[in-house]
Amino acid sequence: MKIDNLPRVTLINAPTPIEELKELSNHLGGPRIFIKRDDLTGMGLGGNKTRKLEYLIGDALQQGCDTLITTGGIQSNHCRLTAVAAVRAGLKCELVLSGSPPEIENGNVLLDRLFGANITWCYGDQRNDKMLDIANQLTAQNKKPYVIPVGGSNEIGAVGYISAMAELKLQLLQMEIIPDYIVFATSSGGTQVGLEIGKNLYQVNTEILGISIDQTKTGDNAFPPILRNIAAKTLDRIQADTKVEALDFSLNCDYLGAGYAIPGELEISAIQLCASLEGILLGPVYTGRAMGGLMDLIQKQFFKPTETILFLHTGGTPELFAYHQIFKK
Ligand SMILES: *Cc1c(COP(=O)(O)O)cnc(C)c1O
Repeated sequence: MKIDNLPRVTLINAPTPIEELKELSNHLGGPRIFIKRDDLTGMGLGGNKTRKLEYLIGDALQQGCDTLITTGGIQSNHCRLTAVAAVRAGLKCELVLSGSPPEIENGNVLLDRLFGANITWCYGDQRNDKMLDIANQLTAQNKKPYVIPVGGSNEIGAVGYISAMAELKLQLLQMEIIPDYIVFATSSGGTQVGLEIGKNLYQVNTEILGISIDQTKTGDNAFPPILRNIAAKTLDRIQADTKVEALDFSLNCDYLGAGYAIPGELEISAIQLCASLEGILLGPVYTGRAMGGLMDLIQKQFFKPTETILFLHTGGTPELFAYHQIFKK
C-alpha cells in the first residue's frame, strides 16, 4: 500500500473534532449519537471536499499544472472549496456551474466570486464538455489546466477519506467508542468509497451507511456501479490487496424528497432541531437531508436505542444563506 507516498498538500487542521450530541439523543429517545465535525476543516468555511483536494491539488502541483477546472451546481460546496484551495496553492480556478447567473449572489456562489474564481454558466448535461472546452482553450494558450470531476470523486480525491478513516480510527480508540454505524450524506461517491476502503484497510468494525442525496440504487445511473468503479481505480492507485468485491456499499435512498437541492420538511426540521438543541449548523442540500434521514431511521427503530451512531458532518453550512426563505418565522 502506498498512501503515504502520494502527493498531498496540507489544507486541514486535522484531526477534526468529535462531539457527542446528548440533547439530540435524549430528544429522540434514541441511540448515542456522535458527530465528526468535517464542517470544521477550516479553510474557506470547511467541508468534506477539502480532504479530497489535499490529494487532488498535490497531484496537480506534481504535474506542474497552473489552473484548476471543476464543476457543480450553483450552491456547490465542492466548487467553493476548490476556489479557495486554488488561492492557497497559488493556482487559477475556473468553475463551470449549471444554471444561469443569479440576480443576487449568495451562499457558495458569492464565496466563489470572492475567492477570485472565473465562472462559466451552462446546462447541467453540458458541464463536462464545457470543462473540456476550457481546458483546450487554456492548453492552446500554453497554460496547464487540471480538470477535477464533479465532487472531486475519483481515485485521487477518494484517498482523502481513506486518510480520514485512519484519523478517525485513532480518535475512536482514544474515546473508547465503537460506532455501529457511520452515517453521512453521499452524492458523487468519493467520500463513501474512501470511508469504505479505509474501514477495510484499517479494520474498523462499523457499518458505513450513506444516505443518498440524489442517487438511486437502480436505473440508468444506478449508484452502486459508480461506487465500485471509483473504488476499483482507488484500490489500484494505492496498490492495496483488498478486492473491490470485499467492499460493502450500504446505501439508503429513501430521502430523495422532491429532488437534488430542493429541501422540504425533513431538512428544515433537522436543521432547526440541530441548531436549537446542539448549536450545530447543517446545510439544506446535503447534511440537513442526511441528518433528517438519520432522525427518521431512529424513529422507525432501524437504529436501536442501545446502538451508537457516528454522524459525519460533511459541511455545506454556507448553503443556509442561499435558502433563507425556507425558514418561516
Ligand atoms: C459533496 C458533499 C457531500 C457528498 O460527498 P460525495 O463525496 O460527493 O459523495 C456531502 N455533503 C456535503 C456538504 C457536500 O458538499
